[in-house]
Amino acid sequence: MTAAQLKRKNKNLSIAILEPRTEHYYQPAWTLVGAGTFNFNSTRRDEAKMIPAGVEWIKDFATTFDPEKNIVNTRNSGPITYDYLVLSPGIQNDIDALPGLREALETDFVCSNYLDPEKTFRILKNFKGGNAIFTQPTTPIRCGGAPQKIMYLTEDYLRKHHLREKSNVIYATPGSVIFGVKVFADTLTDIIKKRNIVFKPFYAPVMIDSKKKEITFRYVNPNPGPTALTMNSGINEIASAQDLITLPYDMLHLAPPQSAPDFIKQSPFAFADGPNKGWLEVDIHTLQHPKYKNVFGIGDSAALPTAKTGAAIRKQAPVVVDNILHLMKNQSFSSHQYEGYSSCPIVTGYGEMLLCEFKYDNVRDSDPLLKRFVDTTKTQWSMWILKKYGLPWLYWNMMMKGRM
Ligand SMILES: Cc1cc2nc3c(=O)[nH]c(=O)nc-3n(C[C@H](O)[C@H](O)[C@H](O)COP(=O)(O)OP(=O)(O)OC[C@H]3O[C@@H](n4cnc5c(N)ncnc54)[C@H](O)[C@@H]3O)c2cc1C
Repeated sequence: MTAAQLKRKNKNLSIAILEPRTEHYYQPAWTLVGAGTFNFNSTRRDEAKMIPAGVEWIKDFATTFDPEKNIVNTRNSGPITYDYLVLSPGIQNDIDALPGLREALETDFVCSNYLDPEKTFRILKNFKGGNAIFTQPTTPIRCGGAPQKIMYLTEDYLRKHHLREKSNVIYATPGSVIFGVKVFADTLTDIIKKRNIVFKPFYAPVMIDSKKKEITFRYVNPNPGPTALTMNSGINEIASAQDLITLPYDMLHLAPPQSAPDFIKQSPFAFADGPNKGWLEVDIHTLQHPKYKNVFGIGDSAALPTAKTGAAIRKQAPVVVDNILHLMKNQSFSSHQYEGYSSCPIVTGYGEMLLCEFKYDNVRDSDPLLKRFVDTTKTQWSMWILKKYGLPWLYWNMMMKGRM
């Protein structure tokens, strides 16, 4: 997206994309694949088709950096020099950071839309009732809303297949609330109550025992007591802080622990310590590295206090593009700043979606044009259509082409 936008603004620029993979995925649709309502193959395109005309594709891995000399070292292509560098290597899944997860993923009861969304749907189709547990790690993850999207879809699926009465649908999260922005949290809380979903805040997964089909959580509420929304179905418990709580599962969906790719963690561009340790250090408004001024970071690996989504990158890329073009002309930065926009299209069932748009500090930032036509604080069928058809089209044909 960034390369395409740069090229559109100045076709004389010499740009290379260093990218080892030959396939590119539209990951936001993996939620729908996991619920059996989107074809996995349609989320994949050849990387070659993503490379903008006139941009060189170096099919290789970045390994290390020498920013004093403006060099990226690669696995096979030797050192590459740059005048400007945009880092956007995504996120890595740390399967072994949760004991038992690797073995559990080999069973027919544990799945993740982050790893294999087709398996999620196979497990859902085979589920005959019992505890369906949905959880996420204590680390930052891509699209923080995705673990609850598949939970709502599963709940809807079970109702449609007359299995709901035999099932507990449990959403256990280390977080304190269902969503960070109150107006959206209110809508989601109503849905949780109406649909008899068991919501367990302050549940941090610590271990899976796939032989016993059990997951253990640490209760991380700093002010323990009866939790506001832990409810329903005879599996409530009142826990003390740091207590370990084990729940049996018949289906378990989780987001694996995630972190910045190792080569970023070990690079001079990452935070060396503090809460953002290992993530790319950039100014949260200009997306420029504070020390190496010709280096920018966008996407999932950047330490930005907002949700890691493709929607966020859509607003980040133009800021990086403008700033690089200004720097090239020896001008000060453009006035264009990133304000933390991100969006979580929370699919709450087959045919309904809540479009949660927000910016830094959990401030609602719904599209003003959209707001004129639909109430974006409520779930809408039109937003489901946007998710299923509109957004994939926009991604492939507009965003990836640098047209928006
Ligand atoms: C289940 C799920 C649901 C989601 N739902 C939504 C949603 O509804 N809406 C939304 O906006 N977002 C959603 N997202 C998040 C969105 O997909 C990501 O935020 C986005 O794709 C991240 O883009 P990125 O460019 O940072 O990383 P990526 O798209 O992962 O790209 C990183 C690239 O860097 C390359 N790379 C890695 N290491 C190296 C190296 N050493 N050298 C060179 N290249 C390297 C990789 O090959 C890869 O191509 C979802 C994600 C998932 C998994």
